[in-house]
Amino acid sequence: MTDFEGNAFDRVIYYALQPLLVIGAIVYWYDDPSDAARFLIALLAVHLILGAIEYIRPARYDWRQPGVEKALYVFIVLVLLVLSGTIGDFYRENITAPFAALREALNLDVWPREWPLLVQVAMVFFASEFIWYWMHRAEHRWRIVWRTTGHGAHHAFKRLGAINFGLNHPLELLVLALPTLIVDLTFGVGVAAAGSVMITSIQASIAHTNIRLNSDGIGWLLTTNEYHLRHHSMILEESNTNYGCAAIVWDRLFRTFSAGVTAETGIGPSEPTLWQKALMPIKEPTDSQVAP
Ligand SMILES: [Zn+2]
Repeated sequence: MTDFEGNAFDRVIYYALQPLLVIGAIVYWYDDPSDAARFLIALLAVHLILGAIEYIRPARYDWRQPGVEKALYVFIVLVLLVLSGTIGDFYRENITAPFAALREALNLDVWPREWPLLVQVAMVFFASEFIWYWMHRAEHRWRIVWRTTGHGAHHAFKRLGAINFGLNHPLELLVLALPTLIVDLTFGVGVAAAGSVMITSIQASIAHTNIRLNSDGIGWLLTTNEYHLRHHSMILEESNTNYGCAAIVWDRLFRTFSAGVTAETGIGPSEPTLWQKALMPIKEPTDSQVAP
């Protein structure tokens, strides 16, 4: 993706889209961090922009999701977002007190709340991504983890777009909520955790998008779609790299980073139906090549 050809519009998209979306969302959130609605508004705006560009300038025309399919995916993601909120509330109601007790017992009340908020957001973001890196790596390492989290369902799509960030098995929502929550509750972070969740969600959306984007420079710290689509490769050796869905720095540090063109995505030659994807925790498709 680094050899770039295209007109001025394509060039602006290629170099500026990812930084502009991430910085724009942060600026919007920072204006009123206590407003919980800003996360959803920023996420919606990012998806409207990515969806429009995927339609008029897709990187791969054969990946354009037809209207009915896209509408179904949007509906599923909205349902899953509501479910994620419920799961987050459930966790907070049940584990906030034990984590507070643990923080007190281990003297972990060290979070620098007096530091600039954006510095704290960056700290939560990279710490959460560190936890996610190992959880995600475990999903690809052990069959029992792959199955019980339903992670295969997320990998089973052959045509990817930004909306795929949210197309996860309902079981996996129990896991996806944990990294930021663990950092937040262990250290009693507060509002900076919300900023981190927003950046993670927007970065994960960009990581799945079907638009030609630059990876140079920005790709030292943050995941780009070149790197993440490679993680979705149907070739096992390529799929078992780039576990960071929002930050890539941990893959670079722990030597699981890889770059390059990804020919085909999915778990195998064919894409399972939605029902087959839903049943993947108990029955892996026979032609699956990337399952552990
Ligand atoms: Zn994965």
